[in-house]
Amino acid sequence: MRIKFIPSRLVTVGLLLTLLYGCDKLPSPREDKESFVAMGTLVEIDLYGVKVSERPRILELAHKDFDYLDYALHAWRAGSLGRVNQMMSAAGEFSANPVVIPILQQAQSLSRQSDGLFNPAIGHLIQLWGFQSEVLPKGPPPDDAAIKELLAQQPSMQDFVIKGVRIANSNPHVRIDLGAIGKGYAVEKVAEHLRTLGVNNALIGAAGDIKAIGAHGDRPWKIGIQHPRNKTAFASVELQNNEAISTSGDYERFYDYAGKRYHHIIDPRSGYPAEHTASVTVIHSNAATADAAATALFVAGPELWPKIAKQMGIETVLLIDTQGQILLSPAMRDRIHFETASVPALQVVKLP
Ligand code: AMP
Ligand code: MG
Repeated sequence: MRIKFIPSRLVTVGLLLTLLYGCDKLPSPREDKESFVAMGTLVEIDLYGVKVSERPRILELAHKDFDYLDYALHAWRAGSLGRVNQMMSAAGEFSANPVVIPILQQAQSLSRQSDGLFNPAIGHLIQLWGFQSEVLPKGPPPDDAAIKELLAQQPSMQDFVIKGVRIANSNPHVRIDLGAIGKGYAVEKVAEHLRTLGVNNALIGAAGDIKAIGAHGDRPWKIGIQHPRNKTAFASVELQNNEAISTSGDYERFYDYAGKRYHHIIDPRSGYPAEHTASVTVIHSNAATADAAATALFVAGPELWPKIAKQMGIETVLLIDTQGQILLSPAMRDRIHFETASVPALQVVKLP
């Protein structure tokens, strides 16, 4: 678990405790039904100012949305994206279930803006590493030759063209895995749905992807940011109405093999887990964009992230590298609050 809600007098402590677990060790959902397991992770929904009698229906509808999107957008199951992937395995044109079109379009454009560092077309590579599976792989890492073979196929989000509900694909090696954007997208869609149900104040979180609607009474929603090397919320930020926060971390899904950490965020340039970054946190109004950007900036690493952030339209970024160095954009520096006794050493980096 990468981001956690900070308990306040009104946010229950249970919310914080359940979020301390990683998504490979899911706690049981809370008894008051404000959390449930969906998309292979713990979803937490905090409704503020909603009548007790209305809460179960709202939470049930939100749960249904997550389950439907999981079915529709899963890379390897027999849902809508699963079928798209099957059709993609031969070059040519086909009709797709329209439910996948908006997220594919958004993913194509974010992939382009990230110079391909966010590249959901590398589904085969992710499968080779075993990180597509709900069961955490144990190693050994794949053969270098097998990695190189998949890299040589150069799958890219620009290998297919969307024409209405038809997709024309020119690279049969494309396999779309939306793991780096899907939870953010789902959180965004559930927030839209909740607003139509008259919910004006809520916090919706799926693992590291959180979206705020309104506020928590007379103060903004406050979100804790986990340090990548210990489980404490070393910092926090307040989210304004309609803002989303997303964190990608090397501690989220990983295994150690022969003394080396292999995690789930793959650098599409090398075919190996991205090096040098431990975690990235991004704030943006759109939760899917925040999710994709956190992954992209993680891959970009301590040198390249300001350029990629600028290209992706992201202003508020925190990156912690594997040496523990804290790098942040000026917009993040203005918002972050450190929960530690003293402010840690920081490097503020202007975006180009
Ligand atoms: P996140 O936790 O949002 O950073 O997403 C990580 C997940 O996205 C992984 O478990 C993979 O399924 C997928 N993924 C890994 N590397 C990439 C990448 N470079 N671009 C797009 N998706 C990726
Ligand atoms: Mg992501």
